[in-house]
Amino acid sequence: MQTNTPNAPSGHAARHDGMESGHSSDPYQQRHKPSQPSTCPDCQASYHDGRWSWEAPQPGAVSHRCPACERIRDGAPGGELSLSGSFLAAHADEVMRLVNNTEEHIRQEHPLERLIDTSGDPASGEMLLRFTGIHATHGVAEALEHAFSGTLDGALPGGRRPHARSLAAGLSSRRSNGGSKLIAG
Ligand SMILES: [Zn+2]
Repeated sequence: MQTNTPNAPSGHAARHDGMESGHSSDPYQQRHKPSQPSTCPDCQASYHDGRWSWEAPQPGAVSHRCPACERIRDGAPGGELSLSGSFLAAHADEVMRLVNNTEEHIRQEHPLERLIDTSGDPASGEMLLRFTGIHATHGVAEALEHAFSGTLDGALPGGRRPHARSLAAGLSSRRSNGGSKLIAG
């Protein structure tokens, strides 16, 4: 199911929605856009030619906090993923390993897409993951879905805040035969 309407009814499957819109439409990226080559004092990402990367900063780059670190400071996640269910409780280590591996992979390619923090306790079957961007949120959600045959409900609360979407993953079954090779690389 693929939909790009921001007014999708609540509960409508919309997990692909927004995958490509994480750049120009993110208010944090607009508001904190540097006007010259920069380097972030918090994470050392560098900005050059209109994009953030992990490359070495340009000579003469100025200090300018990146949008991801601004979100972290503000406590304003760009996406949230809630995980629940007995499967999570029984396979907490496995699930968290996949979350961390996937997040690292995404962060290497997209410096502004990161896991901010986690709350709750996977061993109790309830967790909330907060990300700086919707791309990381979706990427981790999809990796979990593929590995564990979970069900993702992409709800748009109010349909008005595409960057604060919450996806609920009920990881209840494990039909995948790839449980031991959760992610390559
Ligand atoms: Zn930063």
